[in-house]
Parts: sequence; C-alpha cells; structure tokens
Amino acid sequence: MPSPIAHTAAGYVVYKFYGLKEHKVFDTVGNNSTAFILAFVFSLMPDLDVIPAFFAGNVSYFHNNFTHSLGSGLIVALIVGATCQMIQGRGFKYWSILALLCYELHVVMDYFTVGRGVMLFWPLSNERYEPAITVFYGLRRSNGLLTLDHVWTLINELCFVLLLLILMRTYEKLRLNMSG
Ligand SMILES: [Zn+2]
Repeated sequence: MPSPIAHTAAGYVVYKFYGLKEHKVFDTVGNNSTAFILAFVFSLMPDLDVIPAFFAGNVSYFHNNFTHSLGSGLIVALIVGATCQMIQGRGFKYWSILALLCYELHVVMDYFTVGRGVMLFWPLSNERYEPAITVFYGLRRSNGLLTLDHVWTLINELCFVLLLLILMRTYEKLRLNMSG
C-alpha cells in the first residue's frame, strides 16, 4: 500500500474538484471544511483494517482483504450517504459520491502498488488482482518503519504529489483562460 502521503493527496484532489464545488449547496452542516475533513478520512478509511490486524497480531489476515475492494467502497458510500441524509434531511447523493470517490481511489492506488494485489471484485470473487505495471513502491511493513526502502517510497510519493499539483495548476490555468 502507498503511505498516507499519496492517499491523502488523492483525497485532496477529490475535495478540490468535487467537495469544494458542491459545498455551496450544503452551507449548514455540510460546509466545505466538513467535506475537506471527510475526504481525508475516506481516502484513508480502507487502511483502518490495520487496527484489528495490530491487535490480533496478524496483518495479512485482516489488512488488505475485503476492505480493499470496489464492493466495500460502495457499501461504505451507501452507509455514509444514508447517515448524512438522516442528519441533514438531504445530501445523500453528495456525501455518498464523495465517500465513493475517495474510498475507491484508495483501492485503485493500492491495486497499482508493488505487493500482493487487491481483492478488487469482492464479494463477487475472493481473487486478488495485480496490475501489469505498478505505479507505487508502497510501504514495506515487514522491514520496519525506518528502512532505506522507505526513502524510495517517499521519493515515489512526493513525485506523485508533485505531478498532481502540476496537473491541478494546469487545469486551473486552462479554466481561467477559458472563462477570461
Ligand atoms: Zn490500503
């Protein structure tokens, strides 16, 4: 899995292009700071499976299994949307899409990481899928946190963040040019 650096960067992009754009509709409870915080939470949510893994002392059994699937993202998104709808009396679509985008991006990014692949199509299949080309070097937990491997992880993910920033800036410039 990539580190929280890459995952939260992806969550920020979702916030910037979806969360921020729509927030005006929800100026009571769902203001943009709520969307900002939730985008970060949802972009890291699949990795909460490390908590039971830590307490059970069995990482491979709990971590990166059914939690890392498109199906789990859909279930989480529906629960989030329904909960927000109950609280606000509206906003099912907005919040479920925000959760869905952030959660599924996490799953897709883990898919493109060096490792054992992800159970992409759970619950339809328990098969793990691995891509032909990986994008992320990922964390190497078995080697401990302070390992030279993680220098590469850091460089890899900072390059990813830089690429996202360049793309976002370019998009903003193009949009300004078009509207001006
Ligand atoms: Zn993950």
